[in-house]
Amino acid sequence: MTLNSRRIVLTVVFLVVAGAGVFGWFRYVAHPAPVACGYCSRPLHAKSMVTAEIAGKRTQACCARCAISEANQQHKPIRLIEVHDYRTGNGISPTSAWFVEGSRVTVCEHDMANMSEHKDMPDMVFDRCSPGTFAFASKPEADAFVAQNGGAALSFNQLMSEARYQ
Ligand SMILES: [Zn+2]
Repeated sequence: MTLNSRRIVLTVVFLVVAGAGVFGWFRYVAHPAPVACGYCSRPLHAKSMVTAEIAGKRTQACCARCAISEANQQHKPIRLIEVHDYRTGNGISPTSAWFVEGSRVTVCEHDMANMSEHKDMPDMVFDRCSPGTFAFASKPEADAFVAQNGGAALSFNQLMSEARYQ
């Protein structure tokens, strides 16, 4: 091995080690909490994220809609463990929460590159996060959101009846 090629090898090894270190720092130190939906990999939003359990496997999801879509696709039962109040972002118990579905508000960011490929038929593309489902700590808060943004307020049991595999 010549001096030159040894230097190249050392440089490559250094870059790989440094890259792994930077990646690890971002992954485990800068962002220790999950930042992407465990089902669709879209970014998690504090206002709409949920903790769900499908067939006993617990995951953070971008919204209740995405988690229920996933359970139906897997043909598995789902439990909602925690949801987040849309107004405050605070974690609340799903069983006492009210849910708004079918409003004009979209929180999940769509993959625009992917969308533009289907530009001629945007309404026909299935979206696992649509219609967006948002949680509220009380029915009056859910009703106020519906008055502004459309949609319908659902109780926990009404929402969960959309999960097809109980
Ligand atoms: Zn998702």
